Amino acid sequence: MTETLHIIGGGLAGSEAAWQAARMGIPVIIHEMRPHVGTFAHRTGDLAEMVCSNSFRSDDSEQNAVGLLHWEMRQADGLIMATADRHRLPAGGALAVDRDPFAQSVTRTLLDHPLITLETGEITALPDHGHWIIATGPLTSSALGAAIQAETGAERLAFFDAIAPIVYADSIDMSVAWMQSRYDKGETEAEQKAYLNCPMTRDQYEAFIDALLAADKTEFHEGETAGYFDGCLPIEVMAERGRETLRHGPMKPVGLTNAHKPDEKPYAVVQLRRDNALGTLYNIVGFQTKMKYGAQASVFKMIPGLEDASFARLGGIHRNTFINSPTLLDNQMRLRSKPHLRFAGQVTGVEGYVESSAMGLLAGRMAASAILGHDLPPPPPTTAMGALITYITGGAEAKTFQPMNVNFGLFPPVEGLKGGRRGRKDRYQAYTDRAKTDWRDWLAQYALDAA
Ligand SMILES: Cc1cc2nc3c(=O)[nH]c(=O)nc-3n(C[C@H](O)[C@H](O)[C@H](O)COP(=O)(O)OP(=O)(O)OC[C@H]3O[C@@H](n4cnc5c(N)ncnc54)[C@H](O)[C@@H]3O)c2cc1C
Repeated sequence: MTETLHIIGGGLAGSEAAWQAARMGIPVIIHEMRPHVGTFAHRTGDLAEMVCSNSFRSDDSEQNAVGLLHWEMRQADGLIMATADRHRLPAGGALAVDRDPFAQSVTRTLLDHPLITLETGEITALPDHGHWIIATGPLTSSALGAAIQAETGAERLAFFDAIAPIVYADSIDMSVAWMQSRYDKGETEAEQKAYLNCPMTRDQYEAFIDALLAADKTEFHEGETAGYFDGCLPIEVMAERGRETLRHGPMKPVGLTNAHKPDEKPYAVVQLRRDNALGTLYNIVGFQTKMKYGAQASVFKMIPGLEDASFARLGGIHRNTFINSPTLLDNQMRLRSKPHLRFAGQVTGVEGYVESSAMGLLAGRMAASAILGHDLPPPPPTTAMGALITYITGGAEAKTFQPMNVNFGLFPPVEGLKGGRRGRKDRYQAYTDRAKTDWRDWLAQYALDAA
């Protein structure tokens, strides 16, 4: 008899994982704690409930990385995308979804499937045998969170994200910025030049502080803040504590010499650190923030060298349970220390409805393949699915790992194309053309087990 796959959490990721595994002939039990145990964001007992906005973001599969992810999931007969398409609302180029009929329809489809069973109730401990996917999301219950922490070590499971904005490397003005680690620290040249530095004069610093203080901020949801002030303060909160606080904190100018103007001592310096092995993304160090997105873009473009910056993602701080996937998971999304446990969805350190569903799709197929007797190789990093799984299971900097949206900075560059803003349209088209070919090939090569 075929072994059963157990999935903890019937959210976006768990629902997609269940569907994919059942399509491959594997019996699935979904363990969902709602409606008996709730979260501060969920309202219903439905599977795949969208907790906040009703948007799956851009549906443009030629010029947008999340649109490409939609396309790849549709090609793989994804349940979440098929149901979203059936409950689509008018929203220009975005895919907006009528949330309640959407979740009810996903629930019905899964419960009607002869191989899928739903068991309601909270799972509070890590199972010690069988095949399991943990897809408990950003609001994983505290008992299970504690059990995961006991297995991984406290520092490898976070309850809040602290996301600094991430900039595309090729949009930084290197005639202003320079590469240098503070006090040239490090054994190798690569380490001594690990940071990208943007200098500020006194006037620029004062204007920047004024803009930070005046910017629109987002509030925390009620019940969301417990435990948050343990670690990272938003930069605007640091600025509120005193105009010089940032200059003595993340913007301190010491140990740095402006390579373009060695005789001018900067009044403050903003540092950016490499965010991925490819070197295509840099995060602004210490700049986690609760500023609204519109405000962030205009405030951060005041930083010399970032006037024309393109942001792969803006900053934020949210209640968000996630593991340090680059150190904990193998490329099959299995916990290295307990390979019968896979993780999927937002808890792996991807961010967003679509990315979470996508990681559910892969985890479901990988777990089903393992039950059928072989491992499913991850998709190539040139696809949106492959770029995401490569990032979370190894491409990201483990020390500073924070949840990530899909974006073209995660893809290996296409050689021979113009960089910067001007070449963007052709570059994105080349990324998506390449991804579609590679995704079709991967699906064709590993489709044999799908029922
Ligand atoms: C407040 C908030 C707002 C968000 N807004 C957006 C947004 O607007 N757009 C966007 O793209 N993303 C948003 N996200 C991020 C994220 O994409 C969604 O949370 C998404 O639902 C994640 O999918 P998931 O399947 O990983 O987790 P979920 O959809 O949260 O599914 C996890 C499931 O696991 C269940 N569960 C938890 N612990 C246990 C347990 N111990 N035993 C059994 N079941 C358990 C939960 O009840 C839940 O049903 C938001 C997140 C939060 C917290």
